[in-house]
Amino acid sequence: MTSIRTLHQQLVTKERSAVEIATATLERIQALEPKLKSFLCVTADQALATAQQVDAKIARGETLGLLEGIPIAIKDNLCTQGVPTTCASRILEGFIPPYESTVTQKLKDAGAVMVGKTNLDEFAMGSSTENSGYQVTANPWDLSRVPGGSSGGSAAAVAADECVVALGSDTGGSIRQPASLCGVVGLKPTYGLVSRFGLVAYASSLDQIGPFARSVEDSAILLQAIAGYDAKDSTSLNVEIPDYTQFLKPSLKGLKIGVIRETFGEGLDSVVAETVQAAIQQLQKLGAEIKEVSCPRFRYGLPVYYIIAPSEASANLARYDAVKYGIRASNRNLMEMYTQTRAQGFGPEVKRRIMLGTYALSAGYYDAYYLKAQKVRTLIKEDFDQAFSQVDVLVCPTAPTTAFRAGEKTTDPLSMYLSDLMTIPVNLAGLPSMSLPCGFDSQHLPIGLQLIGNVLREDRLFHVGYAYEQATTWHQQKPPLV
Ligand code: GLN
Repeated sequence: MTSIRTLHQQLVTKERSAVEIATATLERIQALEPKLKSFLCVTADQALATAQQVDAKIARGETLGLLEGIPIAIKDNLCTQGVPTTCASRILEGFIPPYESTVTQKLKDAGAVMVGKTNLDEFAMGSSTENSGYQVTANPWDLSRVPGGSSGGSAAAVAADECVVALGSDTGGSIRQPASLCGVVGLKPTYGLVSRFGLVAYASSLDQIGPFARSVEDSAILLQAIAGYDAKDSTSLNVEIPDYTQFLKPSLKGLKIGVIRETFGEGLDSVVAETVQAAIQQLQKLGAEIKEVSCPRFRYGLPVYYIIAPSEASANLARYDAVKYGIRASNRNLMEMYTQTRAQGFGPEVKRRIMLGTYALSAGYYDAYYLKAQKVRTLIKEDFDQAFSQVDVLVCPTAPTTAFRAGEKTTDPLSMYLSDLMTIPVNLAGLPSMSLPCGFDSQHLPIGLQLIGNVLREDRLFHVGYAYEQATTWHQQKPPLV
């Protein structure tokens, strides 16, 4: 398994050049993509040009940053100047952003080598990546199964070694759930920690950008590079960013970990429950004090989310009017231009959410749905506040099941929505949360352990995640790929 530090060492000692690393990565992408379909676009020329610049720097004897020369994949809802950005929607076909998102600019400045843009559920709405308007990504552990979603392309690419790390976005679980289903580490930072300038908006009070990696350390290194205040994002937090790698410690002595009782109920696969319980015992062996805590309103997360997220989406997606971006389906008259373009450009799930959201916000229903949902959101946050008055970190499963088969849930949106039962409340409360590999089911499909921290306590997620990872070997297992 290649980590950022190993590659960095190879570059510094001139054992391998950045161009060699980029070339090997691009060859692997080329070999795997016919089966995996993680990428919507591979940016080979740009990757090699960046790698050459890194090599030139090495030749000049300059010191190298940790991310310099490291192959990275970017979810295709982040704007990249000069590189197509589709959000996996037909409505944005042909859209080439004239500007760069803050996170990708930071990665460029850090010398990371972007190898391509990854597949997702259209506008990040979905839990399986099957809602992409372009292609269906496979799960590297079993090609007949989904990688999760919506950042399924990024999760599959990292799991299959098509890149070292990747970026995703998480509105209701879209980093953590695919990380769980693909057996990698996925982190959703505190709301506001990472700038969303240039992230195509889905539900603005929930969206956050975060890293996918094959180890907790790599995820800490990547978060370090993208976190921080940005005047271009009005929700950006103006806080000091610590050195996250200093929290990677092997012992959990003195730490209190709370197990959320309500997450071990109905709908949870028994093998997922047993595996997560075993992981919790491991945390105890590492010195943590384990305590059961209750978040009685956790279960309202899902219905609340499906009012708030579609409401915000219906407003955010109003901008696709055939004028500013992407396709134009008709020129006959203004109304027909709007309606034809939106009818042809958006897929069924996006249309469903626009209709749900428009309904929930309409006069007469606003109080009954949207306002009520906002009030329950506050109650969910209060449950977390109460839990964090007793413990330092919360644990529960990331997803109720392992990867399901492609096509299994596409005709039943409610069963698909249930995949995010455990991740959604965290977004509603704005908290940081990590999914990390903690075992496999009988078919050798990965299972994820979810850690939840209080606001801006990413340090504790890195601490617990690292200690667990050091004591186990799950993250070292590779998918039996091609
Ligand atoms: N699966 C959830 C949804 O469909 C969450 C998506 C996300 O986090 N972007 O909305």
